[in-house]
Amino acid sequence: MSIRLKLTIIFLAISSIPLILVSALTYTNFKSSLEANRLAQLRDLSVFRADRIEAYFAGLKADVEIAQGFYTIQKNLPVMTRLAGHPGNPEFVTAKKMLDGQLRHMRSVSAMTDIMLVNPEGNVVYSIEPRHYRKDLSHGLDAERRAFTQGKTRVCFSDIYFDKAEDYRFEMLVAAPAADLSGAFAGVIVFEVDMTPVYKLIQDVTGLGSTGEVLVGIKTGNQVEFLNPLRHDPKAALIRKATIGDASGFPIQQAVQGRSGVGLAIDYRGKQVIAAWRYIPSMNWGLVAKIDTREAFADVINLRNLVLMILIIVFALSGIMAFSIAQSISRPIKRLSEGAAEIGSGKLDIKLGIDQKDEIGRLSRSFEKMTRDLKAITASRDELNKEIDERKKAEGALLKTTDELSRSNRDLEQFAYVASHDLQEPLRAVAGFMGLLKNQYHDAMDATAKEYIDFAAEGAERMQTLIHDLLAYSRVGTKGGTFGPLRMKDAFDNAIKNFKTIIDETGASVTCGELPMVNADASQMTQLLQNLIGNAIKFHGPKKPEITINAELKGGQWVLSVADNGIGIEPQYFERIFLIFQRLHGRAQYKGTGIGLAVCKRIVERHGGSIWVESKPGQGSIFYFTLSDGGNNR
Ligand code: ADP
Repeated sequence: MSIRLKLTIIFLAISSIPLILVSALTYTNFKSSLEANRLAQLRDLSVFRADRIEAYFAGLKADVEIAQGFYTIQKNLPVMTRLAGHPGNPEFVTAKKMLDGQLRHMRSVSAMTDIMLVNPEGNVVYSIEPRHYRKDLSHGLDAERRAFTQGKTRVCFSDIYFDKAEDYRFEMLVAAPAADLSGAFAGVIVFEVDMTPVYKLIQDVTGLGSTGEVLVGIKTGNQVEFLNPLRHDPKAALIRKATIGDASGFPIQQAVQGRSGVGLAIDYRGKQVIAAWRYIPSMNWGLVAKIDTREAFADVINLRNLVLMILIIVFALSGIMAFSIAQSISRPIKRLSEGAAEIGSGKLDIKLGIDQKDEIGRLSRSFEKMTRDLKAITASRDELNKEIDERKKAEGALLKTTDELSRSNRDLEQFAYVASHDLQEPLRAVAGFMGLLKNQYHDAMDATAKEYIDFAAEGAERMQTLIHDLLAYSRVGTKGGTFGPLRMKDAFDNAIKNFKTIIDETGASVTCGELPMVNADASQMTQLLQNLIGNAIKFHGPKKPEITINAELKGGQWVLSVADNGIGIEPQYFERIFLIFQRLHGRAQYKGTGIGLAVCKRIVERHGGSIWVESKPGQGSIFYFTLSDGGNNR
């Protein structure tokens, strides 16, 4: 899972969870309080309506009881019964007039539509409405029959009935026994009551929205008969029935069975409603006030929808915000990782372009600095590698040249050696025969021939010296001995031996200081000292030659010096004299081949040292050479 997705989910969870909790709490609180509120409203409404209905019928009952006490009725009901069918009789007329006077007044102030007086047989002997006069209630409608029968003994209310015969309306009869002046049973007082105002009272839907209603019913056997026209079924009065025990019409079933309550239930239409139900004892009715749940809780549903909508909007906004925050955090990290990958692939001039002021910004700047440093290091490493390569190449070339040089040197040495070695033999022969020629034909030759022979012999001798020296020069490289511990004093002593005669002749003094132990080729060291001492004696000046050999340890190596008081050397020849065949004087002045110092240089170089001269013309020369320490001098 990417960092961006993780951060988005975390931010979303942080922002949404409290909101969801608050919304859910608000919603459930509101829902339960609204439910309680609605149920309380319905209960209050049902109580109020039931009370009004009871009050209404209590009023009717009071009216009929008042009528029972009327003197006019007690006196005139027996007259009307007796003279029924004799309307012309003056007594009848008087009686009717009295009754009209009182009862019409009563009707006008009360709720009944007609007041009838019925004789003990069930015939109407008096009515305000002429259409009821002489009607036989004992053979009339159920309600009429029952009102008459029960009314003989007590105040009673008939069932509601639909009066098709006369006014096409719902009516009810209130009946009560009537007595004569002596208190004996004289008949029944019957009020005809129009149900319209009662229905108005019941059916008032104020405060019940578009689906709510109030209804009344009565228990008939195991059924409930609806007594009023219903809001959703105007023809229901006295026709629609609900069976007790069925799921539908639960509230009215409860009410007619004498129970009161509130709650959610299924109504007569099979719809979910909230209802309050009550029993009206005086009428034996059940009353229900109800409203469809959908409408009652519309506010809850609206709230739920609103909360859901707010949640969705907030969720979407939080999502966008969370995404953009996550993006702003993850983008530089992604850029950093891409940068790292680019560096990994060798691209070092990357610019991340993250100029935030936070930790990530600092990290990216450090990252860029690291890349710049890396680039500088890589560049200098590349340069170094290049230089190393060039040097290696140069070294290779040098090595090759050195190889070639030393090979050609070796070849040259070999050639010089072979040539000088092989030349010695014929030269010896030439010199030998020259000697023989001179000795055996001495007398036969004239002076010029002798002189020529002498020239030839001298030339041969010179050539022998030259070849000897050349051979010595070439032998330094090709026929050198092994190195070993050597006292330089021994080499010096050996070298001196050969100069005994010449030292004696010239009166030269050759002395030496303390000489060290070195690691060297013994015969070459002797030859080196011989050459240097020989030159020092040979190139003496007017003074007797004084030659001193010394040694000094400098920087880990020995510097040996051979100093003389001879003719000295001009500084411009300091280098040249060490080259082969280079001489500063003619042969007539000083004998020599010009090879001696070249041999010295080769010997010293073979021992890893160097040779040089310091001199002033006329004041003598000092030849220096270096040798590595033999290690046994202390
Ligand atoms: P050679 O002695 O055969 O001439 P070298 O190679 O020994 O050849 O010397 C070369 C030259 O250096 C000499 O000819 C001489 O001119 C000069 N030289 C060498 N040694 C000395 C010295 N001790 N004093 C003055 N000049 C010297």
